[in-house]
Amino acid sequence: MLTLALQKSGRLNKQSVQLLKDCGISFINGGNNALKVTATNFPLQILFLRDDDIPECIADGAADCGIVGENVIAEKNVALAVDKKLEFGKCRLSIAVPNALNYTSQNDLQNLSIATSYPVILQAYLAKNNLNTSIHEISGSVEIAPGIGMADAIFDIVSTGSTLLSNGLKEVETIMKSEAVLASNPQLDQKKKEILSKLLFRVNAVMHAANHKYILLNTPNDKIAKISSLLPGRKSPTLMPLAKEGWSSLHSVIKEDDFWQNIEKLKEAGAENILIIPIEKMIA
Ligand code: ATP
Ligand code: ZN
Repeated sequence: MLTLALQKSGRLNKQSVQLLKDCGISFINGGNNALKVTATNFPLQILFLRDDDIPECIADGAADCGIVGENVIAEKNVALAVDKKLEFGKCRLSIAVPNALNYTSQNDLQNLSIATSYPVILQAYLAKNNLNTSIHEISGSVEIAPGIGMADAIFDIVSTGSTLLSNGLKEVETIMKSEAVLASNPQLDQKKKEILSKLLFRVNAVMHAANHKYILLNTPNDKIAKISSLLPGRKSPTLMPLAKEGWSSLHSVIKEDDFWQNIEKLKEAGAENILIIPIEKMIA
C-alpha cells in the first residue's frame, strides 16, 4: 500500500483528485471531513492535508508521496524526489514594489523591507545576491503590506498579476516558477517503489493523451504524401480506402499545437471532413 497526500481543499485539490480518477483509480470521496480514504482498485491510501503540511509529511514518512506546489517544497526546504511535473497550479514567485518606486536593478532592493509568507525562498535569494534587505514574515494578504506602511515591497505568488495591479504594485523580479508536482520520499522500500512506478506510468499515459489528439480526414489519393508531411506524427498514418473512387481516409495522432499550426495548410492541400477526437490514454 502506498500513501499519497493531496491538498484537502484549495487550488490544487480538484485537479489532483481528477488526475487520480483519470488514472482509473476509484475511491469513495468521504465528504469534506474525511482525512483518509482508501482506493478500491489500486493499492493506494489518500491523505487529505493542508498543502503546507505535505512536504514534511512525506519527508517524515507519514505519507510516501504527494501532490504539492514546487514553491511549498522549496519553502519547507525538505529533500524530496520530484517524480513528475503535473502542468497545473502554475504560478511564479516574484518581488513587487509600489508603482511609484523608481526601480532599475536588484540593487534597489538594498535596505528595503519585504513582506512575504515565503521567508525561506526569499532569504536564499537575498543571500545569493548579497542584498541587505530585511524580511517581514506575514501569513496572508501580503499584497496590502506596502499600502499600510508595513513593508516597502512584497514577495509573493503571482499568477495573472491582477492582484498586484489593484494594489498599486509592479512586479520587478521573478525568483521562482512553480507548478504542482508528484513528489516522493527518496527512501521508499522496494514494494512502495513498484506501486509508485505503476502510478507514474498511468499519470504519464493520461498527461501524454491530454496533449495529443486523434485526427481523421479524407484526402484525394494523389495528396496523401503531401498531407502526411503536414502531420508530424510519430509513426506513419493509417490509410483506408473510401467508397468514393480515388479517395482515402487518413488517421493519425498529432499534438494539438501542431494541428492548429497546420490546419490552413491541410485544407489547402485538399483535406476534407477533418475530425479531431480526444484521446483518453496514450502509452508511448
Ligand atoms: P491550504 O489551505 O492547503 O494551506 P493555501 O491557501 O495555502 O491552501 P492555495 O491558495 O490553495 O493554498 O494554493 C495552493 C498552491 O497553488 C500554491 O502553493 C501554488 O503552488 C499554487 N498556485 C497556483 N496559482 C496560484 C495563485 N494565483 N495563488 C496562490 N497559489 C497558486
Ligand atoms: Zn497552504
